[in-house]
Amino acid sequence: MATSLLCELNVKVVLQMDVLWAPWRMDYILGPKPDECVFCIPESTEEDEERLILYRAEHCFVIMNKFPYNNCHLMVTPYRHVSKLTDLEEAEASEIMKYITISCDILEKACNPQGINVGLNIGEAAGAGIAAHLHFQLVPRWNGDASFMAVFGETNVIPDHLSSTYKRLKPLFDSCCR
Ligand SMILES: [Zn+2]
Repeated sequence: MATSLLCELNVKVVLQMDVLWAPWRMDYILGPKPDECVFCIPESTEEDEERLILYRAEHCFVIMNKFPYNNCHLMVTPYRHVSKLTDLEEAEASEIMKYITISCDILEKACNPQGINVGLNIGEAAGAGIAAHLHFQLVPRWNGDASFMAVFGETNVIPDHLSSTYKRLKPLFDSCCR
């Protein structure tokens, strides 16, 4: 195969991956990992704001990603520490689907995305950061956001940004799910 064709194929592969550049994720990738599972949350709601927990349902909860791929990156997670879809009880699975739907609706109203990636990485090889505890990812997308994030890529603005996004989204979950 001609070298030029190989280059062209490589470029296409890279472009199709559509990688979001989120440099603050390096803090997560390189930083120390907590010993305890971050998705096994305490019963007390005292730390909910600090943990960025937006809503607690009966079997699952909605939480913001502290190391987001994009603005308003949410996750819907069962309370139980399970790693496979087949581990979920029917009530858990259906409630998770319900809160994925509610979260998409709230994201569309609050963040006005042009698309949303909804997905689940099962196992480390599939890209799961915390493979032992299922977590569904909701990543709002805007046309051209991959290049936008490169401009926005100041790691030290993220904590403030997360806190203000939390304050904006929390009342929407409270009023929507009451
Ligand atoms: Zn867990």
